Amino acid sequence: MTDMAAAAESYGLVIGGREAPGNRGETRNVLDPATNQPFAEVAVADTADAHHAMEAAEAAFRESNWATDDGARRSKALLALARLLEERQELFARLETRNMGKTLRESRIDVGFVVRTLEYISGLADKIQGETIPVPGSRFDYTIREPLGVTVHISPWNYPLLLALRSVVPALAAGNAVVLKPASLTPLTAISFARLAHDAGVPDGILNVVNGPGGAIGEALVRDPRCRSVSFTGSSEVGLKIAEIAASRLLPVTLELGGKSPVLVFPDADLDRAARGIGQGIFGNAGQMCWAASRLAVHESVRDALMERLKKIAEATKVGPGLEDGAEMGPVVSREQEARVLEFIETARHDGGKVVAGGGKASDPRLAAGNFVLPTVVADLPAASRVVREEIFGPVLAAVSFSDADDAVRIANDTAYGLFASVWTRDLATAHTIARRLEAGMVSVNEPPTTFPQTPFGGFKQSGVGFEQGLRVVENYTRRKNILVNLGATKRKA
Ligand code: NAD
Repeated sequence: MTDMAAAAESYGLVIGGREAPGNRGETRNVLDPATNQPFAEVAVADTADAHHAMEAAEAAFRESNWATDDGARRSKALLALARLLEERQELFARLETRNMGKTLRESRIDVGFVVRTLEYISGLADKIQGETIPVPGSRFDYTIREPLGVTVHISPWNYPLLLALRSVVPALAAGNAVVLKPASLTPLTAISFARLAHDAGVPDGILNVVNGPGGAIGEALVRDPRCRSVSFTGSSEVGLKIAEIAASRLLPVTLELGGKSPVLVFPDADLDRAARGIGQGIFGNAGQMCWAASRLAVHESVRDALMERLKKIAEATKVGPGLEDGAEMGPVVSREQEARVLEFIETARHDGGKVVAGGGKASDPRLAAGNFVLPTVVADLPAASRVVREEIFGPVLAAVSFSDADDAVRIANDTAYGLFASVWTRDLATAHTIARRLEAGMVSVNEPPTTFPQTPFGGFKQSGVGFEQGLRVVENYTRRKNILVNLGATKRKA
């Protein structure tokens, strides 16, 4: 990689295998959420850069043999990327923590997940195949799966590298050329990853990264006539806009959107395990998870016992800079996000909620310059409260109680979203019957939000369309073609 790659804390746009400043030379300071101090500078694209990236991708798709070569070549390249990333796991984890704020432990897990994704998907690149279909007469019918061409990927800031690559890797495996627009707040690990592509054997122009404002650059990419599919992870609001543009051009989309995921605790649950799992599900990543288990519904008979445990867990969670030893919860990503979370906590109080733990900014003066919000638990909110209905994207749990299983299912499904739900019970029948009644793309039993590259990830209702991950994900980035051949043979005589 050339030019800007040499300067340690300076990041460019990666287009056609070159890293360079944007068309207008504009740059933006990248802030560390633990201090709000700048630590890096990144190039900002304009729409001319976006179109340039699409042009470079299309040229690479047509002119390199990435798509036409044996899939084993792509498999090897993805595996090589897995090794290159693994060798740099600590560097990437530290960069992710500085850029996004999450703890180093969390960033290490994220980078490890990407390595596993590359390994898992690499094994699929040479197994993309069609079928033969019996048809009448002297004919032969079969299908093939072809890459789409240039695929556009737009990703959010909460798992910057992981969510960018979750869709990029299968698109590459299928032979596409990719243009990725990471979230403007957190583009550094995606750019750093693209720097590895050439050495792994990915032809220049097959993986392009353009950083810039979503409204301008994201839309320009989706509207570009060379765009053949869009994979978007982000808010439901922006997802809807993208769906509208894509519909007007009949582009296939995968939309991974927001959530307000319920966690149901039945009276026979192991309350200690449940409390720990609930803590992970809402305080992990400082609550900035699309599938944060942010609405707790607990059976009234165990409500007090569970709330006591949750209060202890929230108060014992060590809040601090992500790079600091022992930090269990880092800052939220930006001042704006902090203000949003604090505003929700105020609304909770205003709506009559009882703050059981946390309830504001961390008071430790050492943390004053960063975006540190305390792990917060609020009980007894009315079902209509915005705090119960809207995605907060911060470490705030809203708790209510239920009287029986029907009540629990009604509360769980009473949301516009349908991404994830979890059930805590020791009873097998309760676990399976409730899991089937929940309107969510993913349900876990006695487990906090947990996923693997091999398990599908996707939501119902306002949480999205389609899925990422899993054995069939590569098909998202292919199109199926049916080929019917008349063999011209004369009819055999009886
Ligand atoms: P966001 O929707 O504001 O931004 C996501 C991406 O879209 C960013 O890259 C942004 O620059 C871009 N963008 C913004 N406006 C655009 C437009 N008009 N056209 C094209 N692109 C545009 O989301 P965010 O604040 O970065 O992330 C948080 C949201 O993402 C939450 O709602 C969260 O639930 C969701 N999310 C969902 C999943 C999932 O898998 N379902 C995973 C993580 C995050």
